[in-house]
Amino acid sequence: MNILVLNCGSSSLKFQIIETDLDLLEKNADVQKAKGIIERIGSQALITLQAAGRPTVKQAAPLRDHRAALDYLLRWVISPEAQIPGIQSLADIQAVGHRVVHGAEKFVKSAIIDQSVIEGIEDCIELAPLHNPANLKGIHAARELLGAGIPQVAVFDTSFHTTMPETSYLYAIPYQLYRRHKIRRYGFHGTSHRYVAYRYRQIIGKEREHTNIITLHLGNGCSACAIRGGDSVDTTMGLTPLEGLVMGTRSGDIDPSILEFLAHKEGMSLPEIDALLNKQSGLLGISGLTNDMRDLLDEEREHKDRRATLAIDLFCLRIKKYIGAYLAELGGTDAIVFTGGIGENSSVIRQRICNGLEWLGIAIDESLNNATIGGKEAEITKPGGRIRVYVIPTNEELLIARDTVRSLSNVPRRW
Ligand code: ADP
Repeated sequence: MNILVLNCGSSSLKFQIIETDLDLLEKNADVQKAKGIIERIGSQALITLQAAGRPTVKQAAPLRDHRAALDYLLRWVISPEAQIPGIQSLADIQAVGHRVVHGAEKFVKSAIIDQSVIEGIEDCIELAPLHNPANLKGIHAARELLGAGIPQVAVFDTSFHTTMPETSYLYAIPYQLYRRHKIRRYGFHGTSHRYVAYRYRQIIGKEREHTNIITLHLGNGCSACAIRGGDSVDTTMGLTPLEGLVMGTRSGDIDPSILEFLAHKEGMSLPEIDALLNKQSGLLGISGLTNDMRDLLDEEREHKDRRATLAIDLFCLRIKKYIGAYLAELGGTDAIVFTGGIGENSSVIRQRICNGLEWLGIAIDESLNNATIGGKEAEITKPGGRIRVYVIPTNEELLIARDTVRSLSNVPRRW
Protein backbone atom coordinates (compact mmCIF):
# COMPACT_ATOMS: atom_id res chain seq x y z
CA MET A 1 0.00 0.00 0.00
CA ASN A 2 1.16 3.56 -0.69
CA ILE A 3 0.56 5.53 2.49
CA LEU A 4 0.56 9.33 2.57
CA VAL A 5 1.90 10.37 5.99
CA LEU A 6 0.90 13.88 7.06
CA ASN A 7 2.20 15.95 9.95
CA CYS A 8 0.35 19.26 10.01
CA GLY A 9 1.57 22.12 12.21
CA SER A 10 -0.10 25.49 12.66
CA SER A 11 1.47 26.89 9.47
CA SER A 12 3.29 23.87 8.04
CA LEU A 13 2.61 20.52 6.45
CA LYS A 14 5.26 17.79 6.42
CA PHE A 15 4.65 14.69 4.38
CA GLN A 16 6.10 11.40 3.22
CA ILE A 17 4.83 8.72 0.91
CA ILE A 18 5.79 5.27 2.15
CA GLU A 19 4.98 1.95 0.55
CA THR A 20 4.40 -0.67 3.21
CA ASP A 21 2.18 -3.60 4.16
CA LEU A 22 2.18 -6.32 6.83
CA ASP A 23 4.75 -8.31 4.89
CA LEU A 24 7.06 -5.40 4.02
CA LEU A 25 7.07 -4.03 7.56
CA GLU A 26 7.87 -7.44 9.00
CA LYS A 27 10.89 -7.62 6.69
CA ASN A 28 11.88 -3.99 7.28
CA ALA A 29 11.50 -3.55 3.53
CA ASP A 30 9.18 -0.51 3.52
CA VAL A 31 10.00 1.96 0.73
CA GLN A 32 10.12 5.71 1.25
CA LYS A 33 8.97 7.15 -2.09
CA ALA A 34 8.78 10.90 -1.49
CA LYS A 35 9.04 13.47 1.24
CA GLY A 36 8.80 17.20 1.76
CA ILE A 37 7.57 20.15 3.70
CA ILE A 38 5.37 23.14 2.99
CA GLU A 39 6.09 26.03 5.36
CA ARG A 40 4.51 29.43 5.94
CA ILE A 41 1.04 28.30 4.93
CA GLY A 42 -1.24 31.35 4.98
CA SER A 43 1.10 33.56 2.96
CA GLN A 44 3.74 32.99 0.28
CA ALA A 45 4.48 29.35 1.18
CA LEU A 46 7.91 27.77 0.87
CA ILE A 47 7.71 24.33 -0.64
CA THR A 48 10.40 21.64 -0.55
CA LEU A 49 9.63 18.42 -2.38
CA GLN A 50 11.71 15.36 -3.08
CA ALA A 51 10.92 12.12 -4.83
CA ALA A 52 13.27 9.34 -3.66
CA GLY A 53 16.54 9.31 -5.58
CA ARG A 54 15.79 12.58 -7.35
CA PRO A 55 16.95 16.15 -6.68
CA THR A 56 15.12 18.30 -4.16
CA VAL A 57 12.72 20.80 -5.71
CA LYS A 58 12.20 24.17 -4.00
CA GLN A 59 9.23 26.30 -4.94
CA ALA A 60 7.14 29.17 -3.61
CA ALA A 61 3.40 29.72 -4.03
CA PRO A 62 0.62 31.61 -2.28
CA LEU A 63 -1.20 28.90 -0.27
CA ARG A 64 -3.90 30.26 1.97
CA ASP A 65 -4.64 27.21 4.12
CA HIS A 66 -3.87 23.53 4.71
CA ARG A 67 -6.35 22.45 2.06
CA ALA A 68 -4.58 24.56 -0.55
CA ALA A 69 -1.22 23.19 0.61
CA LEU A 70 -2.38 19.58 0.36
CA ASP A 71 -3.94 20.26 -3.03
CA TYR A 72 -0.61 21.67 -4.25
CA LEU A 73 1.23 18.68 -2.86
CA LEU A 74 -1.10 16.11 -4.42
CA ARG A 75 -0.86 17.77 -7.83
CA TRP A 76 2.93 17.43 -7.61
CA VAL A 77 2.72 13.81 -6.42
CA ILE A 78 0.88 12.72 -9.57
CA SER A 79 2.74 15.02 -11.95
CA PRO A 80 5.14 13.57 -14.53
CA GLU A 81 7.77 15.88 -13.04
CA ALA A 82 7.73 13.98 -9.70
CA GLN A 83 7.97 10.52 -11.33
CA ILE A 84 7.15 8.66 -8.14
CA PRO A 85 7.25 4.95 -8.94
CA GLY A 86 3.84 3.30 -8.75
CA ILE A 87 1.95 6.58 -8.42
CA GLN A 88 0.24 7.85 -11.56
CA SER A 89 -3.04 9.02 -10.08
CA LEU A 90 -4.52 9.78 -6.68
CA ALA A 91 -6.11 6.33 -6.69
CA ASP A 92 -2.58 4.98 -6.17
CA ILE A 93 -2.57 6.43 -2.65
CA GLN A 94 -4.40 3.84 -0.60
CA ALA A 95 -4.46 5.40 2.87
CA VAL A 96 -3.44 8.45 4.90
CA GLY A 97 -1.70 8.35 8.29
CA HIS A 98 -1.78 11.50 10.42
CA ARG A 99 0.42 12.54 13.29
CA VAL A 100 -1.95 13.85 15.94
CA VAL A 101 -0.35 15.53 18.93
CA HIS A 102 -2.85 15.02 21.74
CA GLY A 103 -5.06 12.01 22.33
CA ALA A 104 -5.31 12.46 26.12
CA GLU A 105 -6.59 9.36 27.96
CA LYS A 106 -9.05 8.58 25.21
CA PHE A 107 -6.66 7.24 22.58
CA VAL A 108 -4.42 4.47 23.90
CA LYS A 109 -3.50 3.41 20.39
CA SER A 110 -3.74 4.58 16.80
CA ALA A 111 -7.30 4.87 15.50
CA ILE A 112 -9.04 4.62 12.15
CA ILE A 113 -10.57 8.04 11.67
CA ASP A 114 -14.36 8.26 11.70
CA GLN A 115 -16.71 10.89 13.07
CA SER A 116 -16.26 9.77 16.67
CA VAL A 117 -12.45 9.91 16.37
CA ILE A 118 -12.70 13.41 14.90
CA GLU A 119 -14.87 14.42 17.87
CA GLY A 120 -12.35 12.81 20.24
CA ILE A 121 -9.52 14.84 18.70
CA GLU A 122 -11.69 17.94 18.99
CA ASP A 123 -12.26 17.17 22.68
CA CYS A 124 -8.48 17.28 23.20
CA ILE A 125 -8.09 20.75 21.65
CA GLU A 126 -8.16 22.31 25.10
CA LEU A 127 -4.98 20.37 25.94
CA ALA A 128 -3.20 21.14 22.64
CA PRO A 129 -4.71 24.38 21.34
CA LEU A 130 -2.04 24.96 18.70
CA HIS A 131 -1.53 21.43 17.45
CA ASN A 132 -4.80 19.48 17.40
CA PRO A 133 -6.68 22.06 15.28
CA ALA A 134 -3.90 21.89 12.67
CA ASN A 135 -4.04 18.08 12.71
CA LEU A 136 -7.82 18.27 12.17
CA LYS A 137 -7.33 20.62 9.23
CA GLY A 138 -5.09 18.00 7.63
CA ILE A 139 -7.70 15.28 8.21
CA HIS A 140 -10.53 17.35 6.69
CA ALA A 141 -8.38 18.44 3.74
CA ALA A 142 -7.39 14.84 2.97
CA ARG A 143 -11.00 13.73 3.11
CA GLU A 144 -12.07 16.50 0.75
CA LEU A 145 -9.28 16.03 -1.76
CA LEU A 146 -8.87 12.25 -1.73
CA GLY A 147 -12.51 11.36 -1.13
CA ALA A 148 -14.40 10.00 1.89
CA GLY A 149 -13.64 6.45 0.73
CA ILE A 150 -9.93 6.65 1.48
CA PRO A 151 -9.11 5.31 4.95
CA GLN A 152 -7.31 7.63 7.33
CA VAL A 153 -5.60 6.73 10.58
CA ALA A 154 -4.61 8.98 13.50
CA VAL A 155 -1.35 8.19 15.31
CA PHE A 156 -1.06 10.06 18.61
CA ASP A 157 2.08 11.47 20.24
CA THR A 158 0.58 10.66 23.63
CA SER A 159 -0.65 7.05 23.10
CA PHE A 160 2.65 5.37 23.89
CA HIS A 161 2.68 6.94 27.34
CA THR A 162 -0.82 5.79 28.32
CA THR A 163 0.83 2.77 30.02
CA MET A 164 2.34 5.05 32.69
CA PRO A 165 1.20 4.16 36.22
CA GLU A 166 -0.72 6.72 38.29
CA THR A 167 2.38 7.34 40.38
CA SER A 168 4.14 8.66 37.27
CA TYR A 169 1.29 10.56 35.67
CA LEU A 170 -0.33 12.28 38.64
CA TYR A 171 0.85 15.63 39.93
CA ALA A 172 0.76 16.02 43.70
CA ILE A 173 -2.00 18.62 43.59
CA PRO A 174 -5.55 18.05 44.89
CA TYR A 175 -6.81 14.84 43.30
CA GLN A 176 -10.15 16.44 42.41
CA LEU A 177 -8.31 18.57 39.85
CA TYR A 178 -7.30 15.42 38.02
CA ARG A 179 -10.89 14.17 38.24
CA ARG A 180 -12.40 17.46 37.14
CA HIS A 181 -9.97 18.67 34.49
CA LYS A 182 -7.78 15.64 33.73
CA ILE A 183 -4.70 17.58 34.82
CA ARG A 184 -1.96 14.95 34.63
CA ARG A 185 1.22 14.07 32.82
CA TYR A 186 0.52 12.89 29.26
CA GLY A 187 3.98 12.96 27.71
CA PHE A 188 4.80 13.58 24.04
CA HIS A 189 7.26 12.33 21.38
CA GLY A 190 5.59 8.94 21.96
CA THR A 191 5.96 7.86 18.34
CA SER A 192 9.69 8.58 18.48
CA HIS A 193 10.32 6.83 21.82
CA ARG A 194 8.28 3.86 20.64
CA TYR A 195 10.09 3.64 17.32
CA VAL A 196 13.61 3.69 18.77
CA ALA A 197 12.63 1.21 21.51
CA TYR A 198 11.33 -1.11 18.80
CA ARG A 199 14.52 -0.69 16.70
CA TYR A 200 16.65 -1.39 19.76
CA ARG A 201 14.82 -4.68 20.34
CA GLN A 202 15.27 -5.57 16.72
CA ILE A 203 19.01 -4.81 16.79
CA ILE A 204 19.68 -6.91 19.88
CA GLY A 205 17.06 -9.57 19.03
CA LYS A 206 15.16 -9.53 22.33
CA GLU A 207 11.43 -9.69 23.02
CA ARG A 208 9.84 -6.47 24.25
CA GLU A 209 9.06 -8.04 27.66
CA HIS A 210 12.78 -8.53 28.31
CA THR A 211 14.01 -5.00 27.76
CA ASN A 212 14.37 -2.07 30.13
CA ILE A 213 15.71 1.03 28.43
CA ILE A 214 15.96 4.79 28.74
CA THR A 215 15.37 6.70 25.51
CA LEU A 216 16.50 10.31 25.04
CA HIS A 217 14.82 12.28 22.25
CA LEU A 218 16.98 15.39 21.94
CA GLY A 219 15.83 17.73 19.18
CA ASN A 220 14.40 21.20 19.33
CA GLY A 221 11.98 19.70 21.80
CA CYS A 222 13.55 17.19 24.19
CA SER A 223 12.20 14.39 26.33
CA ALA A 224 13.40 11.28 28.11
CA CYS A 225 11.39 8.11 28.58
CA ALA A 226 11.74 5.17 30.95
CA ILE A 227 10.58 2.02 29.15
CA ARG A 228 10.00 -1.22 31.07
CA GLY A 229 9.14 -4.35 29.12
CA GLY A 230 8.36 -2.25 26.05
CA ASP A 231 5.93 0.03 27.90
CA SER A 232 6.48 3.67 28.81
CA VAL A 233 6.45 3.92 32.60
CA ASP A 234 7.61 7.52 32.89
CA THR A 235 8.51 10.46 30.69
CA THR A 236 9.71 13.99 31.25
CA MET A 237 7.12 16.03 29.34
CA GLY A 238 3.90 16.59 31.23
CA LEU A 239 0.45 18.09 30.71
CA THR A 240 2.15 20.04 27.93
CA PRO A 241 5.58 19.69 26.29
CA LEU A 242 6.98 22.41 28.58
CA GLU A 243 8.03 20.16 31.46
CA GLY A 244 11.24 18.20 31.90
CA LEU A 245 14.48 18.65 30.01
CA VAL A 246 16.01 21.98 28.96
CA MET A 247 15.03 22.48 25.29
CA GLY A 248 15.78 24.88 22.45
CA THR A 249 13.41 27.58 23.72
CA ARG A 250 11.52 25.82 26.54
CA SER A 251 12.65 26.00 30.15
CA GLY A 252 11.72 22.45 31.14
CA ASP A 253 11.30 21.98 34.91
CA ILE A 254 11.08 25.12 37.03
CA ASP A 255 9.67 25.98 40.43
CA PRO A 256 6.01 26.84 39.69
CA SER A 257 6.22 29.76 42.14
CA ILE A 258 8.35 31.56 39.55
CA LEU A 259 5.12 32.33 37.67
CA GLU A 260 3.65 34.36 40.50
CA PHE A 261 7.02 35.97 41.18
CA LEU A 262 7.38 37.01 37.53
CA ALA A 263 3.84 38.37 37.39
CA HIS A 264 4.60 40.48 40.45
CA LYS A 265 8.14 41.64 39.60
CA GLU A 266 7.82 42.09 35.83
CA GLY A 267 4.12 42.92 35.65
CA MET A 268 3.62 40.10 33.19
CA SER A 269 0.30 38.46 32.34
CA LEU A 270 -0.08 34.67 32.40
CA PRO A 271 -0.04 34.38 28.58
CA GLU A 272 3.15 36.46 28.53
CA ILE A 273 4.78 34.20 31.11
CA ASP A 274 3.66 31.14 29.17
CA ALA A 275 5.27 32.57 26.02
CA LEU A 276 8.45 33.39 27.97
CA LEU A 277 8.76 29.82 29.23
CA ASN A 278 7.93 28.22 25.89
CA LYS A 279 9.61 30.53 23.41
CA GLN A 280 12.32 32.58 25.12
CA SER A 281 13.83 30.14 27.59
CA GLY A 282 15.94 26.98 27.38
CA LEU A 283 19.17 27.16 25.36
CA LEU A 284 18.08 30.48 23.87
CA GLY A 285 17.21 32.02 27.23
CA ILE A 286 20.42 31.06 28.98
CA SER A 287 22.80 31.79 26.11
CA GLY A 288 21.01 34.92 24.90
CA LEU A 289 22.20 33.84 21.46
CA THR A 290 20.34 30.98 19.83
CA ASN A 291 18.25 27.86 20.34
CA ASP A 292 20.37 25.93 17.84
CA MET A 293 22.81 23.56 19.50
CA ARG A 294 25.17 23.64 16.50
CA ASP A 295 25.61 27.40 16.80
CA LEU A 296 26.08 27.18 20.55
CA LEU A 297 28.83 24.60 20.16
CA ASP A 298 30.50 26.85 17.54
CA GLU A 299 30.27 29.89 19.83
CA GLU A 300 31.79 27.91 22.64
CA ARG A 301 34.62 26.59 20.46
CA GLU A 302 35.41 29.73 18.52
CA HIS A 303 34.67 32.54 20.97
CA LYS A 304 34.75 30.79 24.35
CA ASP A 305 31.36 32.36 24.98
CA ARG A 306 30.65 31.82 28.69
CA ARG A 307 26.88 31.76 28.39
CA ALA A 308 26.95 29.37 25.45
CA THR A 309 28.90 26.97 27.68
CA LEU A 310 26.50 27.56 30.54
CA ALA A 311 23.48 26.77 28.35
CA ILE A 312 25.09 23.55 27.08
CA ASP A 313 26.10 22.54 30.61
CA LEU A 314 22.58 23.10 31.96
CA PHE A 315 21.17 21.10 29.05
CA CYS A 316 23.48 18.14 29.71
CA LEU A 317 23.13 18.21 33.50
CA ARG A 318 19.33 18.08 33.33
CA ILE A 319 19.54 14.99 31.12
CA LYS A 320 22.06 13.39 33.47
CA LYS A 321 19.69 13.97 36.41
CA TYR A 322 16.84 12.24 34.61
CA ILE A 323 19.06 9.32 33.62
CA GLY A 324 19.78 8.92 37.34
CA ALA A 325 16.10 9.22 38.22
CA TYR A 326 15.01 6.68 35.62
CA LEU A 327 17.76 4.24 36.59
CA ALA A 328 16.37 4.33 40.11
CA GLU A 329 12.79 4.04 38.88
CA LEU A 330 13.48 1.13 36.52
CA GLY A 331 15.87 -0.61 38.92
CA GLY A 332 18.63 -0.40 36.30
CA THR A 333 18.56 -0.37 32.55
CA ASP A 334 19.94 -2.47 29.69
CA ALA A 335 20.62 0.50 27.46
CA ILE A 336 20.42 4.20 26.85
CA VAL A 337 19.32 5.27 23.38
CA PHE A 338 20.04 8.69 21.88
CA THR A 339 17.82 10.07 19.12
CA GLY A 340 16.54 13.40 17.65
CA GLY A 341 18.58 16.08 15.84
CA ILE A 342 21.02 16.59 18.72
CA GLY A 343 21.03 12.98 19.94
CA GLU A 344 21.73 11.65 16.45
CA ASN A 345 24.29 14.22 15.36
CA SER A 346 26.23 15.62 18.28
CA SER A 347 28.91 13.31 19.60
CA VAL A 348 30.11 16.17 21.83
CA ILE A 349 26.77 16.42 23.63
CA ARG A 350 26.47 12.63 24.00
CA GLN A 351 29.95 12.60 25.54
CA ARG A 352 29.18 15.47 27.89
CA ILE A 353 25.98 13.77 29.08
CA CYS A 354 27.78 10.49 29.78
CA ASN A 355 30.88 12.06 31.38
CA GLY A 356 31.10 11.05 35.02
CA LEU A 357 28.64 8.17 34.72
CA GLU A 358 31.34 5.53 34.27
CA TRP A 359 30.87 4.36 37.87
CA LEU A 360 27.30 3.41 36.88
CA GLY A 361 28.59 1.33 34.00
CA ILE A 362 27.74 3.99 31.41
CA ALA A 363 30.74 4.73 29.21
CA ILE A 364 30.98 5.54 25.52
CA ASP A 365 33.76 4.71 23.11
CA GLU A 366 35.31 7.91 21.78
CA SER A 367 35.97 6.82 18.22
CA LEU A 368 32.65 4.98 17.80
CA ASN A 369 30.87 8.01 19.24
CA ASN A 370 32.67 10.45 16.92
CA ALA A 371 31.93 8.28 13.89
CA THR A 372 28.19 8.08 14.63
CA ILE A 373 26.66 11.20 13.12
CA GLY A 374 24.46 12.14 10.17
CA GLY A 375 21.71 9.58 10.62
CA LYS A 376 23.88 6.54 11.35
CA GLU A 377 22.61 3.83 13.64
CA ALA A 378 25.25 2.32 15.94
CA GLU A 379 26.16 1.02 19.35
CA ILE A 380 28.73 3.34 20.94
CA THR A 381 29.36 1.50 24.21
CA LYS A 382 32.95 1.46 25.44
CA PRO A 383 34.18 -2.12 25.75
CA GLY A 384 33.38 -3.24 29.30
CA GLY A 385 30.50 -0.71 29.70
CA ARG A 386 27.73 -2.53 31.62
CA ILE A 387 24.92 -0.38 30.24
CA ARG A 388 24.88 -0.31 26.47
CA VAL A 389 24.64 3.02 24.68
CA TYR A 390 23.08 3.36 21.23
CA VAL A 391 22.41 6.03 18.68
CA ILE A 392 19.22 5.18 16.77
CA PRO A 393 17.85 7.73 14.29
CA THR A 394 14.16 8.21 14.85
CA ASN A 395 11.63 7.65 12.07
CA GLU A 396 8.22 8.79 13.21
CA GLU A 397 6.83 8.85 9.66
CA LEU A 398 7.68 5.18 9.16
CA LEU A 399 5.93 4.24 12.38
CA ILE A 400 2.88 6.27 11.34
CA ALA A 401 2.78 4.46 7.98
CA ARG A 402 3.13 1.09 9.69
CA ASP A 403 0.46 1.90 12.28
CA THR A 404 -1.83 2.92 9.44
CA VAL A 405 -1.39 -0.48 7.82
CA ARG A 406 -1.73 -2.36 11.12
CA SER A 407 -4.82 -0.43 12.17
CA LEU A 408 -6.48 -1.07 8.83
CA SER A 409 -5.56 -4.76 9.02
CA ASN A 410 -6.85 -4.92 12.58
CA VAL A 411 -3.59 -6.32 13.97
CA PRO A 412 -3.80 -6.34 17.79
CA ARG A 413 -1.82 -3.90 19.98
CA ARG A 414 1.65 -4.75 21.39
CA TRP A 415 3.50 -3.35 18.36
P1 ADP B 1 12.58 18.85 16.06
O1 ADP B 1 12.53 18.64 17.54
O2 ADP B 1 12.07 20.19 15.65
O3 ADP B 1 12.07 17.67 15.25
P2 ADP B 1 15.24 17.97 15.32
O4 ADP B 1 15.07 16.62 15.97
O5 ADP B 1 15.43 18.04 13.87
O6 ADP B 1 14.12 18.99 15.75
O7 ADP B 1 16.50 18.66 16.03
C1 ADP B 1 16.85 19.96 15.80
C2 ADP B 1 18.05 20.30 16.68
O8 ADP B 1 19.12 19.42 16.35
C3 ADP B 1 18.56 21.72 16.51
O9 ADP B 1 18.67 22.35 17.76
C4 ADP B 1 19.93 21.52 15.90
O10 ADP B 1 20.83 22.46 16.38
C5 ADP B 1 20.32 20.16 16.41
N1 ADP B 1 21.39 19.58 15.60
C6 ADP B 1 21.33 19.11 14.35
N2 ADP B 1 22.57 18.71 13.95
C7 ADP B 1 23.41 18.94 14.98
C8 ADP B 1 24.82 18.77 15.20
N3 ADP B 1 25.60 18.25 14.27
N4 ADP B 1 25.33 19.14 16.39
C9 ADP B 1 24.55 19.67 17.34
N5 ADP B 1 23.23 19.85 17.20
C10 ADP B 1 22.66 19.50 16.04
